[in-house]
Amino acid sequence: MNDNKEKILYDDGTHKCVMFSFDDEELGDSFLSVNQYLIIQKDSAVLVDPGSEAIFDELYDAVSRYIDVQKIKFVFLSHQDPDVSGSITQWAMSTKAKFVLSSLWVRFMSHYGFLEMTRIIPLNDKGAKLNFGADYLEFVPAHFLHSPGNFSLYDSRSKILFSGDIGAAIVTSMGEYKKVEDFDSHVKYLEAFHKRYMGSNKLCRAWVNRVKALELSKIAPQHGFVFEDENSEKFLDWLENLECGSDLIDDLF
Ligand code: FE
Repeated sequence: MNDNKEKILYDDGTHKCVMFSFDDEELGDSFLSVNQYLIIQKDSAVLVDPGSEAIFDELYDAVSRYIDVQKIKFVFLSHQDPDVSGSITQWAMSTKAKFVLSSLWVRFMSHYGFLEMTRIIPLNDKGAKLNFGADYLEFVPAHFLHSPGNFSLYDSRSKILFSGDIGAAIVTSMGEYKKVEDFDSHVKYLEAFHKRYMGSNKLCRAWVNRVKALELSKIAPQHGFVFEDENSEKFLDWLENLECGSDLIDDLF
């Protein structure tokens, strides 16, 4: 196991959440840290935002060390971007999993070479709850944060919210797994990305409202570091008050 690239976020003996941080290392200076997640309960698993084709082999091997990949029941894609969904065809060929994503993006998946549309579970805008073992997974609407059809995934057992691009830190190196130690010194890695990529303050508030109603242990984004405890709260308070996207229209046109 590569300690720099794998971290167990939760394990109670029956239910486990693993964080992977595999990047396309050939990207050199344009490198952006990317996280992938695996949720396992007994004999089934869900893969969260598996990423680009370039990291497929590495992630496949890593997942195989935790569970037989044939036991992956669902692959969740928070949105359509290549660093999230680019490997959909590879996962389709190597598993029997169903793919859960916004109905807005279903037809676009063929552009990644994916043609088995009957294996997609399309989510309507309001999201859904899916039974998972004795617990459930909730797909929480996160539209325009940043993608027009976008969801976060809440795992009711671990109480981790897999937040996709929300909370993403733009850092060029993860080093060892790092959680946010101090929100105030971390915010510089969030600011530019969220101001430009998130749709508007109104949309941020709608998401924060939904998320504040959940019992949370961690917020785990697709890029950068994991938020825990008071840093999760500080992040939600910050996002709730952030001017972004269309709020800053005068800077754009
Ligand atoms: Fe994205």
